[in-house]
Amino acid sequence: MNTHIITGFDTPFRTRVELVRQSFAPTEKKTGPRLAFITGLHGDELEGLYVAHRLLQFLKNLNENDPGALLGEVHVYPAVNPPAINHASRLWPGPGIDMNRTLGMKHPESLTALWAQSLFKDVVRHADLAVDFHASNLHLRELPQVRVINEFSKSVLPLALHTNTDLVWVHPMADLFASTLGYNLNKSKVPALVIEAGICHRLTPEYGNQMFAGLVHLMKENGILAKNVTVPGRIKNPLEIRANQVISVSARRAGFFIPEIHIGDVVGEDRVLGTIIDPVKGDVLEEIKSPGTGLLFTLREHPMAGAGSLVARIALEKEPPP
Ligand SMILES: [Zn+2]
Repeated sequence: MNTHIITGFDTPFRTRVELVRQSFAPTEKKTGPRLAFITGLHGDELEGLYVAHRLLQFLKNLNENDPGALLGEVHVYPAVNPPAINHASRLWPGPGIDMNRTLGMKHPESLTALWAQSLFKDVVRHADLAVDFHASNLHLRELPQVRVINEFSKSVLPLALHTNTDLVWVHPMADLFASTLGYNLNKSKVPALVIEAGICHRLTPEYGNQMFAGLVHLMKENGILAKNVTVPGRIKNPLEIRANQVISVSARRAGFFIPEIHIGDVVGEDRVLGTIIDPVKGDVLEEIKSPGTGLLFTLREHPMAGAGSLVARIALEKEPPP
């Protein structure tokens, strides 16, 4: 394992902050592709740090016991937003900047934007494909999924189907993606898989292990790892869905959400997903039912819901008629 410090800065009170890449290369001259695994862009999304740990442990072990099995390069960027991770905050502390909304600028000025650009350039220089790993926000838990923007689906979708996620969601472009790492890597011809799994401020070993197995499988399928390498776990065929197969379910009344199902359940139409309750009066304000049959892949974990708050997302089994 070679440790590279891509950039760094001194904090006012003499602590050094560094952007680290851990790199693994084949022992002999081999020409497999190069993978970048990036996590921690948002400092409160900790699920990916565990995946980085499993991946580094696996690659170090491979290097000791079966070095010939590595046919391409792997570059792990295990925690790319250290100031935010130290605070477990989504945003870069101080100015409160979202590092994953600073890319694609012609003239980046803030330290955060310059830092993000150093990361972006380093990934473009070292990778033929990239995985950018995220968790959800404080309110919602997400089943492991790859999110693919329509315009990149030709290059990204075949890769996404190997990652052992529960689903792959192909959706239209929106303005907010234009300044993200994933979008800018794809624009620069580095196919980038944006993975979302779990929830922020938490670490879900079950999802981390699933995604680690998915990365090993992806590397085997792409010739980065030899065919004799064992994938640690069963590999799923993800459900591939388009935007019109996703139904968002929201609360109509404000109150506390009590779920009656589990994430990952396949729910039938009219199945009760949960209730909105009023803890002061002891009333049930609303019973929330599934509007269709499909996989429940997003579920509200934070109980406090306002009117209009997202409670669940369901992937419909079939595309609805136009
Ligand atoms: Zn994120």
